[in-house]
Amino acid sequence: MDFEAFFKSELNGLHNEGRYRVFADLERHRGNFPRATRHTPDGPREVTVWCSNDYLGMGQHPAVVEAMKEAIDHCGAGAGGTRNISGTTHYHVLLEQELADLHGKEAGLIFNSGYMSNWATLGTLGQKIPGLIIFSDALNHASMIEGIRHGKCERVIWKHNDLNDLEAKLAAADPNAPKLIAFESVYSMDGDISPIKEICDLADKYGAMTYLDEVHAVGMYGPRGGGIAEREGLMDRITIIEGTLGKAFGVMGGYIAASSALCDFIRSFASGFIFTTALPPTLAAGAIASIRHLKSSPFERARHQDRVRKLRAMLDKQGIPHMHNPSHIVPVMVGDAAKCKWISDILLDTCDIYVQPINYPTVPRKTERLRITPTPLHSDGDIEHLVGSLHQLWSRCALARHVA
Ligand SMILES: *Cc1c(COP(=O)(O)O)cnc(C)c1O
Repeated sequence: MDFEAFFKSELNGLHNEGRYRVFADLERHRGNFPRATRHTPDGPREVTVWCSNDYLGMGQHPAVVEAMKEAIDHCGAGAGGTRNISGTTHYHVLLEQELADLHGKEAGLIFNSGYMSNWATLGTLGQKIPGLIIFSDALNHASMIEGIRHGKCERVIWKHNDLNDLEAKLAAADPNAPKLIAFESVYSMDGDISPIKEICDLADKYGAMTYLDEVHAVGMYGPRGGGIAEREGLMDRITIIEGTLGKAFGVMGGYIAASSALCDFIRSFASGFIFTTALPPTLAAGAIASIRHLKSSPFERARHQDRVRKLRAMLDKQGIPHMHNPSHIVPVMVGDAAKCKWISDILLDTCDIYVQPINYPTVPRKTERLRITPTPLHSDGDIEHLVGSLHQLWSRCALARHVA
């Protein structure tokens, strides 16, 4: 086989569909978020980033940066091993205690990313619990889907956020089979929020465990940043809460919070936890500082929500269509892969606004969009510049508007 020709022809397919991914070559500057230097073939340019998952700007927060510097000065660069073989530092232990406390659980367990936490936890539960059936929301993240597949247990996909469909499927399953319902709180692309309480009620009725991905909510919702389940007083009803340290907490890593026995079980049986070098202590130290700060500071959350409201109001005024949802994610709908990429390219090249186009397979075809994520650090002027630029492009591109 001509391997090179095969790779190139597969890539050509992506190019032809307008969904070949081009990475923006960025240098973020501490103290100057959401500004970044973008490296281009014609030299560097300053851009404003509008699509970061560093939702609260904690990636540059002085408490986080100082904690990381101190940790690297104190114990050097890497952890030096897997968690079991010399890689558990005191920072890892403290971080797991911090996470258990954040979610009101007995224990926490950290992974090298949120992806790994979903993949390893769901995969291990699926493999190890005899006869387990996992009921998975249709819009669950790729890492949950891959984990469930890897578990090789029976899986039942229920319609997104549809309680009737979930109940019908629970009722149709063997009443004696162990069950787990896997879902998210804030869905990353549409920004909608699941009916957590009602799902927990169904879980109780049918004797199922619950697995909640709060990746897009931790740090941002709830009085201490524990997520939507905290805000709604439901954390104790969720069997396993999963989160990331890489989005609102501004660092990197993933975790679960659950009972001591469950965390100990995953710690002891999950290949994706066991056979990999532990996070560098400096990342754990940064995450601890970030979580502690957001537990006691409501300022970032309040300012974040204020920026989201302001952006939505200005988009509405110009009739630029965006999906209405109860979260901080503002999807501006384009509905065409090539146009979406074209708009994103023009915003970047002529307005110094960086919003990555979101195309299939991340979202369904015909729902291509610009996924805009305001942060507490975007000023009124930034918002005006973004909406003004979109307004002009909407006219040039003859895109549909909403009547405000
Ligand atoms: C980003 C994301 C993850 C993965 O988290 P990382 O820490 O980035 O690996 C998991 N679930 C959802 C819903 C996500 O959007």
